[in-house]
Amino acid sequence: MVLDRAGEPLREMTREEALPGDGEIAIDVTACAVCRTDLQLCDGDLPARAMPIVPGHQIVGRVARVGANVTSWRAGDRACVGWLAGACGACVQCKRGRENLCEAARFTGWDRDGGYATHAIVRADFALRTPDAFDDVDAAPLLCGGVIGYRSLVRSGIAPGGKLGLYGFGASATIAIQIARHWGCRVFVCTRSKEEQARAKTLGAEWSGGYGDLPPEPLDAAVTFAPSGDVVIAALRALDRGGTVAINAIHLDRVPQFSYDLLWWERNVVSVANYTREDARALLELAAKIPIRTTYETHPLAGANVALSRLRDGEVRGAAVLVP
Ligand SMILES: [Zn+2]
Ligand SMILES: [Zn+2]
Repeated sequence: MVLDRAGEPLREMTREEALPGDGEIAIDVTACAVCRTDLQLCDGDLPARAMPIVPGHQIVGRVARVGANVTSWRAGDRACVGWLAGACGACVQCKRGRENLCEAARFTGWDRDGGYATHAIVRADFALRTPDAFDDVDAAPLLCGGVIGYRSLVRSGIAPGGKLGLYGFGASATIAIQIARHWGCRVFVCTRSKEEQARAKTLGAEWSGGYGDLPPEPLDAAVTFAPSGDVVIAALRALDRGGTVAINAIHLDRVPQFSYDLLWWERNVVSVANYTREDARALLELAAKIPIRTTYETHPLAGANVALSRLRDGEVRGAAVLVP
């Protein structure tokens, strides 16, 4: 399923099967979860970096072929890959263990073709092992929503037993709350939909309300998932002194002007950009241990446009997963 131009529906097409190059593997895709970032790319909110492009960066499948100089994978291995398609390995950021900030980093379904397809070619050293605890469809929503949700929790500085706010309650927050509860955190959820407020409570939120509601106690940390600057300010308003808001969004509509009083007393606002392979491996291990339960609806690959429009309309509960 190919995006030719932002604002147009994806087009179904057949291509000759490509072969993996040096250091690459070809994956037969068995599941690819749909991320909000895919929607932002298709709608033009996120500027395209390559076009035409096959979107999709939560890919699970089996290794079909290995390219030259690949020793760590064999045909038939279960493999998955997320948003980070590659990094240079040589720059200051890569050397500091922050490959998520590498200026030469490449992204799946943005710089190179992704998983809205029957096959995908990925860098062998950026592919991940799918944990045995998960079948392919269950694992797919972990790869972006889960991994970046995990990095957001780390960036928020939330400590075990701390008071955490989650602003927005889509696929990523559904996973983040399970990690936070595993860490013994008290969780407060703000989200627009009453249905999601109720669902948050069934997943262990102590309290839930709308974006305009203030949680009953000041928060140690908050993670915002909505692509809205107003929601960031709402989260900032709910923080205790010294608390942090981590923004889990690649695209934000705007940052509204706000009173310095909201930031004073060493409150922090931080962004969360991508993830490192170390984050991904840590999340997949933790997900198997907890174990995290993903909720999703499945769509056939050719139904990718339906899945995207359901996500746009806020109709997807949990994640949408494409199954070729
Ligand atoms: Zn680098
Ligand atoms: Zn994503």
